[in-house]
Amino acid sequence: MKSAFFSSVLSLISLVAAAQQIPQTENIFIITTDGFRWQEVFNGADSALINNTDFVEDTSISKQLYWNEETEARRKMLMPFFWNVIAKKGQLYGNRLYGNRSNVANFYKISYPGYNEIFTGYTDPRIIINYPKKNPNTNILEYLNNQEAYHDKVVAFSSWYVFPFILNKERNGLPVNSGYENMQTENSDTTFQLINKVQDNVVEKNHTRYDWLTFLNAKEYIEQHHPKIVFIGLGETDEYAHEAHYDKYLQHANAVDKMISDLWYYVQTNSFYKNKTTFIITTDHGRGKQTFNWSNHSLFTTGSGQTWLAMIGPGIEPLGEMKEEQQIYQKQIASTIANLLGQEFVSEHKVGKPISLPTVSSTNSTGNNLLTKVSLEK
Ligand SMILES: [Zn+2]
Repeated sequence: MKSAFFSSVLSLISLVAAAQQIPQTENIFIITTDGFRWQEVFNGADSALINNTDFVEDTSISKQLYWNEETEARRKMLMPFFWNVIAKKGQLYGNRLYGNRSNVANFYKISYPGYNEIFTGYTDPRIIINYPKKNPNTNILEYLNNQEAYHDKVVAFSSWYVFPFILNKERNGLPVNSGYENMQTENSDTTFQLINKVQDNVVEKNHTRYDWLTFLNAKEYIEQHHPKIVFIGLGETDEYAHEAHYDKYLQHANAVDKMISDLWYYVQTNSFYKNKTTFIITTDHGRGKQTFNWSNHSLFTTGSGQTWLAMIGPGIEPLGEMKEEQQIYQKQIASTIANLLGQEFVSEHKVGKPISLPTVSSTNSTGNNLLTKVSLEK
């Protein structure tokens, strides 16, 4: 009895050791594009929408850009980085045609509750509306920033002006550049000065800054300072969808794919980041599934809780599109980020457990790859 007990303890220890040998990462970039549907990620342009002149000004040009009868070709036209690179080197979750489901766990299915869920791992029933109110919940960015290894190496850039409140910059001192806020710069820093000047000259300043400006600020900061944890929150996909401009929604999704591609190329050709940086890309909520409601999202609009998640980099095995039945939630992202860094996210509130990341192991004697699930959960 005793020896059997000890041998099972020993095998348990070796299992834990094996789990801990999973290559983990040193830097994490979290990129979100607001209210972008899983339907377009996995199926490309929707035929019912791209042919509809209520939503597309020039259906002929839009179709030249983004239409092909074959789903695989079509989605690649819209999101080339997702389907040429992430599909080969990373993982994509949320294709419901395979029963692979990604959802928000919060009740409201709008932005503030969604971003709160992503960054705190907690669905707070008190967070109901998109009002700029300071978030009482500890988030994963400040949790990391409070550690020596990441202190002053965490940064956030966002298009939507509410992020300083969602991340509670005032409480934790995180650097969050948001909306049309200018970057603080030295006189010699001509790039930021130029971006600030362009921002100042934007005539109609809405609550969401042009994503290219957010991206340019983030990219310049990354090149200058090499932060380890970066959040880039893009917002225009949701803006165009609310305006019911499906053509511009597609064009902007394509631009977001390009920004991510540009950043990945930079990271993989820079000695500080190369092969040590993981991208986690997602959205804060879904939208309506039907032609009459695709432009909206709310707790009353079916489809609004359906999301997707894409990841690439160390700790993420190259399994591509996930085709097995599965359910993941947005509230699992914060603790997954911690786990990829070899940590556990603990907080004053409940936190969703990390996603069990599948891994390709080549442990069988024939040398064939076996797909096994190894939980990074500690
Ligand atoms: Zn919205």
